[in-house]
Amino acid sequence: MSERSAGTSERIARTGQDRTAPLDLLDLDGSLAEEDRQIRAVVAGLVTTRVRPYVARWYELGEAPIRDLAVEFGRVGLLGMHLTGYGCAGASAVAYGLACLELEAGDSGVRSLVSVQGSLAMYAIWRYGSEEQKQHWLPSMASGETIGCFGLTEPDHGSDPASMATRARRDGTDWVLDGGKMWITNAPVADVAVIWARTDGGVRGFVVPMGTPGVTAREIRHKMSLRASSTGEIVLDEVRLPADALLPTATGLKAPLSCLTEARYGIVWGALGAARDCLHTALDYATGREQFGRPIAGFQLTQAKLADMAVELQKGYLLALHLGRLADAGTLRPEQVSVGKLNNVREAIEIARQCRTILGANGISGEYPVLRHANNLESVLTYEGTSEIHQLVIGQRLTGLAAFGG
Ligand SMILES: Cc1cc2nc3c(=O)[nH]c(=O)nc-3n(C[C@H](O)[C@H](O)[C@H](O)COP(=O)(O)OP(=O)(O)OC[C@H]3O[C@@H](n4cnc5c(N)ncnc54)[C@H](O)[C@@H]3O)c2cc1C
Repeated sequence: MSERSAGTSERIARTGQDRTAPLDLLDLDGSLAEEDRQIRAVVAGLVTTRVRPYVARWYELGEAPIRDLAVEFGRVGLLGMHLTGYGCAGASAVAYGLACLELEAGDSGVRSLVSVQGSLAMYAIWRYGSEEQKQHWLPSMASGETIGCFGLTEPDHGSDPASMATRARRDGTDWVLDGGKMWITNAPVADVAVIWARTDGGVRGFVVPMGTPGVTAREIRHKMSLRASSTGEIVLDEVRLPADALLPTATGLKAPLSCLTEARYGIVWGALGAARDCLHTALDYATGREQFGRPIAGFQLTQAKLADMAVELQKGYLLALHLGRLADAGTLRPEQVSVGKLNNVREAIEIARQCRTILGANGISGEYPVLRHANNLESVLTYEGTSEIHQLVIGQRLTGLAAFGG
């Protein structure tokens, strides 16, 4: 990274820290438990030292030190942090959400690493695995030494995973898997994949070590979004697995969908982090940049933008806190998570785009984080259920009618 851009990143990191308070218009931080606040401060500190100074460079190169980050995140208990036992931290849902927010204030790709590891791969094993599977995989996944991925999406089946083409058939006591998965976060660097496949008995989940003969993963190149994250295609060619690779209690599509609900919950919070970072940057820029003889922050049109964005950010935070408290009470329902994902990602992307306008030409520069966040949020808008799918989930709840097609 050039000296100038490193300096800019550091300045943004500093101002990002300093400006948290003015954005908390409704004093929502005051309602957080002390322990949640402490966890948030640890994650924010880690992002400041370990992500912010480097992430623009990772994004530009299209590669991030995933393994190193996983070990560092594991060391402070971020991986599977809302799960209990097997080396997991057992933190509250609100604390997990706050961690996602602070991680994504650094970069959505970095938060994706933690979400996929903890909420998709580890959660699937934690919730549906045998005792042996849990003991074998979870402690080293919690420490970040083992990286997991979650293969549901296929080249021809995204929003409609019920139509998946990947098959698992029995051969004696073994299982044999054939098919392919696409757009799988962490796949090129993963040690293990949770793969969902169709069997004669419906959709089942399998724990697949990536070194198994017949498994290949390749990096998906030319991404214009989430470039500080590894995304891959997995090919499964006559992959023979022992009987104990099956997740015993995961039967039917509701199993992977329950994992997605976990990960979507983290996104409800995470998207706010990206938006907050954009708004900090825009505020800082607008107060320093002068046109027509005065700071652009002093123009009414700029203040209208800033005010509207701050209001949306606080509404999103209120929503996330509410969902977090429902989760901690054990009553959070999937369609409520859809409300959060739909709203908070949609608003975050609007905030990122609006902030970009405030930065003018500098808004398109990688020396500022705004367009990187906006581009990242394009992926966040699509994965874990597109906005349209969440509208359909909410629509079904409202009308009692499923409008997904089929
Ligand atoms: C960076 C990145 C990382 C990802 N990581 C993972 C991962 O780790 N694991 C994994 O399994 N998947 C992953 N995904 C895949 C992601 O979950 C899918 O891209 C997503 O579910 C959408 O599927 P699709 O891209 O095939 O789009 P499609 O399903 O083809 O949808 C295309 C468009 O049609 C719309 N549409 C589809 N059906 C309907 C309908 N019934 N009514 C109205 N509109 C509809 C969609 O909303 C969308 O706008 C990742 C994707 C990205 C971009």
